[in-house]
Amino acid sequence: RAKARKKGSHAVFDMSMRAEAIDRLRIETELRHAVAAAQLELHYQPIVDLATGATVALEALLRWRHPTRGLLAPAQFLPVAEEAGLMVPIGRWVVAEACRQLASWRRDAVVPDDLWVSINLSDRQFWYGDAAATVAASLEHERLPARCIALEITEGVVVHDVQAAQSMLQGLHDQGLKLYVDDFGTGYSSLSVLRELPIDALKIDKSFVSDVATSAKARELVRTIILMGHNLGMGVIAEGIEEPAQHAQLRELGCELGQGHLFSRPVRQLSPTPRQAP
Ligand code: C2E
Ligand code: MG
Ligand code: MG
Ligand code: MG
Repeated sequence: RAKARKKGSHAVFDMSMRAEAIDRLRIETELRHAVAAAQLELHYQPIVDLATGATVALEALLRWRHPTRGLLAPAQFLPVAEEAGLMVPIGRWVVAEACRQLASWRRDAVVPDDLWVSINLSDRQFWYGDAAATVAASLEHERLPARCIALEITEGVVVHDVQAAQSMLQGLHDQGLKLYVDDFGTGYSSLSVLRELPIDALKIDKSFVSDVATSAKARELVRTIILMGHNLGMGVIAEGIEEPAQHAQLRELGCELGQGHLFSRPVRQLSPTPRQAP
């Protein structure tokens, strides 16, 4: 009986694995066409000054408007894109589209001239995607200054090869781009490594932010990250702020910028802000 049950569970396992493989293959095929078919979209989440509530930047977040399955989030297709070697072309599209959109919003005075857009770079795009040239070309094409763009990399990029990362990041920084470490606190980068890198800000992962108002441990962790960032001459940006109590706590701890559903979800379009009377 034990043997029969084992055999049975194997069969179920094989079938679900097969279904998963077929699913992956279908997603991969569809994804190859998605860029050309203009099915990819960027949605933009405001990054706000926690003291004033003013929007200072927008994070560009990728979505796939699938013809039959609706609007898909990155978690539903980025892993497939990575495996299929599609991250570099998709990443290039993201950079070009974010620059196009920002230039258009600037022309229409929907955003102020000092607002910047923050773009996520995958590890593969960072190492093999010629990020510096891609960004430079898009900026030139749209006649945008480099200070209008921030690039978000993960700690994984940094620890993978510190020396190579250092020279790549220095090149991007010398172009005038802002550089952020995303999801900070979830990876393995050490203080000594961070000190060597031209990083402008650490983005505190939302897993810490979610507990910051209710757990003393989380609060001390966030306090430490903020102090550490500031001591290294970096800014700090909190992600995933959902509640007023989290906002208040982060302000008290000295965090200057943040984003989250409390302020706004990622949006497709911005409405023009009425000009303030002088
Ligand atoms: P991330 O860069 O850490 O982006 C923040 C994520 O948190 C986004 O998820 C955002 O929608 C979500 N978020 C924002 N505010 C809140 C909140 O208050 N509560 C909660 N629970 N979540 C919030 P999203 O858009 O699903 O993106 C997931 C991840 O996919 C991103 O994490 C980023 O790592 C990756 N990603 C997104 N767009 C791109 C892209 O264009 N290129 C690359 N390489 N990766 C991207
Ligand atoms: Mg990000
Ligand atoms: Mg993040
Ligand atoms: Mg995150």
